[in-house]
Amino acid sequence: MSDNNDKKPMSEEDYLKRHLNDLETGKKIADGDIPFVEQSESARTGDLQFFNMDIRELPCGQFYPTGTLFMVRPAQVKEIQAYSMVDDNNFYDIVEKMNDMMQACVRIKYPDGKVASYLEIKDQDRLFLVFLIRELTFQQGNSLAVTAKCGCGEDVKIELNRKSFVFHEIDEKLEKFFSLSSKTYNFKTVNGKSFELTPPNIGLQKAFTDYIVKENNEKRTPNLSFLKIIPFIMSGRVTITYDGIKAKVKEFEEIDDISFQFLNAAVNKMTFGLKELKSNCECGEEVHTDMQFPNGASGIFVISDAFDAYIKE
Ligand SMILES: [Zn+2]
Repeated sequence: MSDNNDKKPMSEEDYLKRHLNDLETGKKIADGDIPFVEQSESARTGDLQFFNMDIRELPCGQFYPTGTLFMVRPAQVKEIQAYSMVDDNNFYDIVEKMNDMMQACVRIKYPDGKVASYLEIKDQDRLFLVFLIRELTFQQGNSLAVTAKCGCGEDVKIELNRKSFVFHEIDEKLEKFFSLSSKTYNFKTVNGKSFELTPPNIGLQKAFTDYIVKENNEKRTPNLSFLKIIPFIMSGRVTITYDGIKAKVKEFEEIDDISFQFLNAAVNKMTFGLKELKSNCECGEEVHTDMQFPNGASGIFVISDAFDAYIKE
C-alpha cells in the first residue's frame, strides 16, 4: 500500500503534499480531475486545508451572488466517525449528519470577502457537496458504485461521483422570471400579487425541520402543504424562530386560492440537485439510473467491506 517502508501513518500534511504533488504532475487521482483552481491561503483553519470551488459546478450555483467561492476540505477521521452513526432509516438523521459534514468541511466566501457558514448553502446543494467531500477524502481509491443494465444487456458499473451526476434541469418556464441581480425568481400573478421565490438554504431548512419535528412530538399536525412553500418565499433569511414560523403559517392560512395554487405549482417546479447517474457502456450507449445510495446513506463515508479490504492475511 505504502510507497516507502516507513511504518508511521501518513500525517495530514504528508497526505496533502502528496495530493498537491499529484495535482502538479497531472497524475490521475482516483475518480478523475479535481476542479479546484487554487489553494485558498486565507482559509487555513489550523492545519486544515480548504480548496476553492467554482459555484458554477453546483446544482444551485446560479442562486449565489456572482463571484461567490465555495471552500471545501476533506473529512477528518473524527468527522467520518460521527457521520458513521447515522440512522439509515431516519431521513431527518441523514439530513442532520450531512449538515454536520457541511458545517465541518464547507465555507462560503462572498465577493465582498465576507465568509459565511454552511447555513447559507442551498439545501438542494447538500448532496452534491457531500459527494464532493467524499471524493476529496478518498482520493486514494475506495469508489462507490452501482450497477445498471445497458440496453445491449451488458452490466455497467456507475460510480457515484461528479462525472456521473445528472442534475435536475431547471424548468424553462421559470427562466425568464429569474433576476440576475437578486438571484431570485420574481413573479406577478393574475390576481395582482407579486412573489419573490428562491431555493431555501440549510439554515431555513433546519428551522423548518425542527418545527415539524416539534409539532409531531407534541401531537399537533403541522400544515405540510404550507410548510413546503414558505421557505421558498423567505429570500435573504438564514433562520427563523419557532414562533416566527407559527406566525408565517397563520399568515399563510389567509392566502387566497389563486396565490396558493400558483405558489404550490411554482415550488413544484423548483426541484434542483442530483437527479440520476449516467455512464457510457462499452457499446457506446449512455446508461442512466436513478440517484441512489448503495449501502445506505452511511455507506457514503463508511467503507462497507473494510474488514476484507484491510485485514492482513
Ligand atoms: Zn451497452
